[in-house]
Amino acid sequence: MSFEDMPVEVGVIYEGERVRKAQMYAEFGGPKVTEKFELCRAKTLDEIEDMKVIIEGPDISELEEGKSYPLGVIAEVSGEQIEEELEGVFERRLHEFNNYIQGWMHLNQRYDIWMRLSKDSFNKGLNTFQVVGTILMRLYKAELPIIEKIQMRFITDPEAIKPYYEEALQIYEARDARARALSDDDVEEFYGCVLCQSFAPSHCCVITPQRMALCGAISWFDARASARIDPKGPNFKIDKGEVIDAFKGEYEGANEALKEKSLGEVTRVFLHTMFELPHTSCGCFEAIAFYIPEVDGIALAHRDFRGPTVNGLAFSTMATSVGGGLQTEGFLGISIEYMRSPKFLQADGGWERIVWMPADVKERVKDGIPEELFDKIATDADTMSVDDLKGFLKEKQHPISERWAEEEAEEAIEAAAEEGAPMMPYPTSQPIQMSSMNIPLTGAGQDMITLTLKGVKIFAEKAIIKRTKGKKGK
Ligand code: SF4
Ligand code: ZN
Repeated sequence: MSFEDMPVEVGVIYEGERVRKAQMYAEFGGPKVTEKFELCRAKTLDEIEDMKVIIEGPDISELEEGKSYPLGVIAEVSGEQIEEELEGVFERRLHEFNNYIQGWMHLNQRYDIWMRLSKDSFNKGLNTFQVVGTILMRLYKAELPIIEKIQMRFITDPEAIKPYYEEALQIYEARDARARALSDDDVEEFYGCVLCQSFAPSHCCVITPQRMALCGAISWFDARASARIDPKGPNFKIDKGEVIDAFKGEYEGANEALKEKSLGEVTRVFLHTMFELPHTSCGCFEAIAFYIPEVDGIALAHRDFRGPTVNGLAFSTMATSVGGGLQTEGFLGISIEYMRSPKFLQADGGWERIVWMPADVKERVKDGIPEELFDKIATDADTMSVDDLKGFLKEKQHPISERWAEEEAEEAIEAAAEEGAPMMPYPTSQPIQMSSMNIPLTGAGQDMITLTLKGVKIFAEKAIIKRTKGKKGK
């Protein structure tokens, strides 16, 4: 496949490239825009004109520099073997393929896309969706030979995009609803996805009927369809094997698959908890679950939530320390759909443990939250500090407040027993060892750097182990 006739280069080397605001010519979607989406639709062969690009609204060259624009992207595909079931996974490939284009950054998925074009690439001639579409179609055909015909549609007109956007939301909902009818216990196999290993080498998603992939784009049905047509591709079957712990979600087959795909970095995982051995998080999770020790509860925030959350940290700050394919106790990347799952963090107490979340996500997953808990979970409209949160939970008689009473009694007994106990020096000949640890570093502005240390050994002259308020786990 050649891209020599294209004005910019195309290749895997551009995958991790970021286009910062200062280098940006224009952006599409992102937090300032409501109408944005990407979609793949299966069509019949006669419905498609192969390799055609359709642009509805102004093309890139007609747009003003430095602004944000709505964008709908639809890849219409057809072929003898192509069925609707494959739409979800084909659609997810847009992330990867877009990022191969020099100076064209793509983030997120579905209704949450965010693309940026660099000034350099614009000046080189990447000034029309004809070029973007042609590159994407060539990549699709090269990587997925079952696609016989493909056409790309780009919608930038702020009015014309509205009905397309509404339809896209309905399509996503219908896909997710299908998986809701199945339970993890009904199936013999789960599926894996390693698409994100290009930037998180030890990450592999385990996708079950009740655990939608953390990017929110691949359900169990999507992964199954993809594994069937392309067994050597990014999705593969995982035999469940022995159920080691159904409550936490530990399965022999999932452990084995993770061990193999992470090259030994991850050997065990619990699918339905954020403690002990949680699922790894890559970088494209739709939402994050984070532990708040002060109230012994779990809070949730989604990617679009701007500014600090209830613990004072922004989504982006937490995302930097949790991402990269590591298992980070107390932080977990999840999809919004997983919040609707009956197994949602079940080993941690499920919804009874959730204490705070942004109001708009709460509204979106309302049907998954037990009715009696709905008003007891605080949102950004109720409180934005951990101190106030405690008062709120007490006043609303959130079930978590019962745990405080039990824990306070336990702590009082332990404190009495420990009183006067000498501090034990930690023998320097036995360092604390960890396979890896992440340290987020904050610089000026928004940019974050994560320092990942591998094979960590900590030497300390003295170690003081002190219980902080609250306990993890159920
Ligand atoms: Fe695949 Fe998981 Fe990445 Fe989604 S987040 S693309 S399911 S590896
Ligand atoms: Zn990812």
